[in-house]
Amino acid sequence: MTRFFTDRLKSLEAYVPGEQPKDMKYIKLNTNESPFPPSPSVIEAAREEAGRLQLYSDPECTPLVEKFAELYGIDKASLIMTNGSDEVLNFAFMAFSDEKRPVAFPDISYGFYPVFAKLHRIPFEEIPLKEDFSIDYRDYVGINKNIVIANPNAPTGMTLSLYEIEEIVRSNPDNLVLIDEAYVDFGGESAIPLTKKYDNLLVTGTFSKSRSLAGARLGFGIASPEIIRDLNTIKYSTNPYNVNRMTMMAGCCALRDNEYYMNNCKTIIENREYTRKALLKLGFTVLPSRANFIFAKSPDMDGEKLYLSLKSRGILVRHFKKERIKDFNRITIGTMSDMQTLVRTIEEILKETRK
Ligand code: PMP
Repeated sequence: MTRFFTDRLKSLEAYVPGEQPKDMKYIKLNTNESPFPPSPSVIEAAREEAGRLQLYSDPECTPLVEKFAELYGIDKASLIMTNGSDEVLNFAFMAFSDEKRPVAFPDISYGFYPVFAKLHRIPFEEIPLKEDFSIDYRDYVGINKNIVIANPNAPTGMTLSLYEIEEIVRSNPDNLVLIDEAYVDFGGESAIPLTKKYDNLLVTGTFSKSRSLAGARLGFGIASPEIIRDLNTIKYSTNPYNVNRMTMMAGCCALRDNEYYMNNCKTIIENREYTRKALLKLGFTVLPSRANFIFAKSPDMDGEKLYLSLKSRGILVRHFKKERIKDFNRITIGTMSDMQTLVRTIEEILKETRK
């Protein structure tokens, strides 16, 4: 850290993204990307738009917002498009929380939430998950704090029902409730319809997972037009051209090709169930996931050892050092062939350690 770095941020611990190795070809099951490429029209649209990169992008993302509003049956004024959903999360922390309006989220959840809170010097409470790693929605009823919940949660993959979400939103009318639906397309229930009923609910989502666009960076927020206006105040005060031209056109085509992506989600759900059953058979603990990953604990070794053993055999999964979950690994669901290789490799590793 240089002597120029501001005192205000000296204690900030930055978010650590999953590895993106360049040295060898891994089966990459560590950052919840889709194993499927974007649809052909997305690739073509991005290529064509590259010829207009001398021009700034449309800050309002007009065609994308129109297509999105139509597909999801929402008002255009209820929508903001962002540079990945990390950006809309950042905007929301910045816009709605401060010293007087702290924020609460689960102790085991997306690692970026505490980073955003520290970045903006927002006091935060981490509410422990239950023993079985589920969220007890009653812990959030009427708590008079802003609330951020990933549903499905990460890295557990476990969900709250829409009833439980509504109870949280209804009982905190003077606080903002943000439901992060990055993984909702893999079997969760979306809270988007509730945004029409409650003016304190913000639902965020991403094209990174179910729509195979992690590298393009496209996310969104859905809420009352007033909430969206506040988020736009932050956007236009930081980066009005936050969604680049190629990404915007890619996003339009990814919505047009909805069926392709929803079919991919179905395949991933099938592959997830195959993997879950296979690991259960090997004696693993596997949490009930509705996301494109599973969170699993080996009967024989801690999470770090399994992570390293898999890595040395060319398979990358994600391990977190946090005490409560250090025995687990988060495994992204890939193609069937990826998952068969994973299961076979884990069998070999277990056999070797049991010798
Ligand atoms: N929310 C959750 C729960 C996530 O796991 C991620 C991805 N790491 C994101 C949001 C952000 O994804 P992106 O910025 O690619 O939309």
